[in-house]
Amino acid sequence: MNKVVERVALGGFSAGTQRHLTVHRYGQRGARPKAYIQASLHADEIPGMMAAHHLLGLLDKAAAEGKVVGEIVVVPAANPIGLAQVVNGYHLGRYDLVGDGNFNRHWPDLFGDLPALVEGKLTQDETANIATIRAAIGQRLDGMTALSETQKLKLGLTRLAYDADIVLDVHCDDDSLMHVYIPPEHWPAYSDLAAELEARACLTSADSGSFCFDETFYMPWSKLRQAVGDKFPIPSPCFVATVELRGQADVSDELGAQDAAALFRFLQRHGAIAGNPGEAPALLCEATPLDATDVVQTPAAGILAYKVALGDKVKAGDHIADVIDPMADAASARTRIVAVNDGFVLAKRLHKLVIAGHRIAKIVGTQSLKHRQAKLMLE
Ligand SMILES: [Zn+2]
Repeated sequence: MNKVVERVALGGFSAGTQRHLTVHRYGQRGARPKAYIQASLHADEIPGMMAAHHLLGLLDKAAAEGKVVGEIVVVPAANPIGLAQVVNGYHLGRYDLVGDGNFNRHWPDLFGDLPALVEGKLTQDETANIATIRAAIGQRLDGMTALSETQKLKLGLTRLAYDADIVLDVHCDDDSLMHVYIPPEHWPAYSDLAAELEARACLTSADSGSFCFDETFYMPWSKLRQAVGDKFPIPSPCFVATVELRGQADVSDELGAQDAAALFRFLQRHGAIAGNPGEAPALLCEATPLDATDVVQTPAAGILAYKVALGDKVKAGDHIADVIDPMADAASARTRIVAVNDGFVLAKRLHKLVIAGHRIAKIVGTQSLKHRQAKLMLE
């Protein structure tokens, strides 16, 4: 069978411990297109691991039948550090407990001295430039070192993915409808990903300002284009997407199999696997700018009482939730939270006890919001 399973050691975290990544490789090394798929970088987001589990079954079969045309790399559990974060009976998994912050922020910057590395090597041949730039990015990665276990995790995953044509980072939201984040320039060329997954929102941003995993592989090309694109053709050969497989509680064999089949058809349509996936289904949404999605935060602490359901349409000023102060003298002590934009409710909070500043909803609108112009992805 045309498949190899590798283990990538992360070194020891503390004396006597050792963790690793499990990497499933299909197809020939260097075959194109190369697709890289990882799940559950936020280790508390289980739907991705379930979908990856089912996807491996489909890929094993395709490999046994000789149908893997490109190279496919799957990391079905991208964060063994987060998987172990069980504290007093509760699994965490979103933040590095040692102090490196959100596992999906502050990824290595693969741009850096890229202009210097490719100086004198770029031509008017776009295809040749892709190979030149990929080699230079590889050179940058070769020179990077990591000390902590989390930094080793990030560098190890980056090395697996940096030269891919397709990078899918599979997450989920808190309590949510299916959605995807993609760079605007890859829409609508890769809109079939959203169509296959039956996504209800496709959120686009050219740069979230947060160095998220997917942007690691997209930003070097767009930054290099800004730097020298007037002299040489610099394409955007790596399609990246962060896939949000609904909410944290949406975990079942049925959903996992459905999502895996959708990803498999997407890989077929883009040439990584032989076979006809058929026409992509109709899109359930159009792409909207990420800065048109409001992330509603509560100004008060207490018990969260929603007045809207997922998918509900709202207008600015509509009542979306109350936050009840259980310590107040009067039972009427509620903080009313209203929408600030027109749109629909994409995501809510699963756990209903909040502190001030907690995010309680995402409302997808179509018009860019002034207060969402800075950092688009909160920590
Ligand atoms: Zn996530």
